Amino acid sequence: MTFDRAAILALDAADPLAGFRDRFAIPDGCIYLDGNSLGPRPVAALDRAAHVVGVEWGVDLIKSWNTAGWFELPTRLGDRLAPLIGAGTGEVVVTDATGINLFKAMAAAVAMRPDRDTIILEGSNFPTNNYMAQGLAALSGGRLQVKLLEKDEIAGAIDTRTAAIAVTHVHYKTGHIHDMPGLTARAHEAGALAIWDLCHSAGAMPVDLNGAGADFAVGCTYKYLNGGPGSPAFLFAARRHHGQAIQPLTGWWGHAEPFAFRPTYAPAGDIRQFLTGTQPIVSLSLAELGLDIACAADIGAVRKKSMALTDLFIRLAEQRCPEMFGVASPRAAEDRGSQVSLTHPEGYAIMRALIDRGVIGDFRAPDIVRFGFAPLYLRYLDVWDAVDILAEIMATAAWRRPEYQVREAVT
Ligand SMILES: *Cc1c(COP(=O)(O)O)cnc(C)c1O
Repeated sequence: MTFDRAAILALDAADPLAGFRDRFAIPDGCIYLDGNSLGPRPVAALDRAAHVVGVEWGVDLIKSWNTAGWFELPTRLGDRLAPLIGAGTGEVVVTDATGINLFKAMAAAVAMRPDRDTIILEGSNFPTNNYMAQGLAALSGGRLQVKLLEKDEIAGAIDTRTAAIAVTHVHYKTGHIHDMPGLTARAHEAGALAIWDLCHSAGAMPVDLNGAGADFAVGCTYKYLNGGPGSPAFLFAARRHHGQAIQPLTGWWGHAEPFAFRPTYAPAGDIRQFLTGTQPIVSLSLAELGLDIACAADIGAVRKKSMALTDLFIRLAEQRCPEMFGVASPRAAEDRGSQVSLTHPEGYAIMRALIDRGVIGDFRAPDIVRFGFAPLYLRYLDVWDAVDILAEIMATAAWRRPEYQVREAVT
């Protein structure tokens, strides 16, 4: 099937999610294909920021811990997020960074399997996950070993020494989706626990943690959940582990009675045990606006459009730039998250040229030109226009300009 601009406009006209775009602040002239790294600002976040800073902090001051619900924000937002990831009420908190939450979850899981000495992660995963596992292993004084394996090796490597697997559901570079129910079942069969990182799935596709029997999960709110730069991550602990799983960052927010100020730590018996310290309230408050939008959308429709957008992008890129790029993402949409990763040895310069022309994606070393397709604010027309601009850059070799060769700190 070949597309022309009119066919693309017809797709947008028939899009059931089209109305969501108006709830985001997308700058004029910008085709934003980087929502898998930092989601755009919900329009409503500006007024909320003014209220939180101007009134809740500015006028009501410390009373706001009670009157504005600041103290409950981590659990309240966790409960809002829960249905998006197949979790129950009281099983999720929004707090801290993903890496910190992963550390807490891995430490809790490993402590629940004291007779086992190995944790398995994916070697090519986003490195912080592996770094955190290595830090945990170093703290264990040699008891715990980190095994880094690739996708097809993980299931076969789970054995009676495995305390836990900690796998990222959708690969940050390629967009490949792991079989969450299958790998979780395989881990459980061997007596191990399963921890899932949902950074590239939450808000982009249906996830069913409890359906899969997952033990713990973590993920970002600033990618597909549009929570804002550095907005707190989330942590899921299955209810059956509450009161059993003990995380090691035993700050006062995880205490059974934080305001009793007792000299000795005693963990809360519920999900609050996974909290550590005072939360970034401004950032948490703004994260709620991204969740408001995500919860209003039909996640099945989001996934359907995501598959259509990524399929369209691959097809148009191959038509307009034949033989120029490799495709690092799975070809079958069912196996692919909400992103497309092309490969090119000059990928960095090509991305710089794209960004200069308003098409914002990112580059992941050594050669991945990465495009995220967030269905709540992207149009089919954006895909068409982005490929148009990419084709022009490739046809004119515009990426060769010297300033595009110089690496910036953040790619
Ligand atoms: C984005 C991302 C992170 C981010 O970690 P922070 O600790 O929140 O900075 C971690 N893991 C994966 C797989 C990611 O994609």
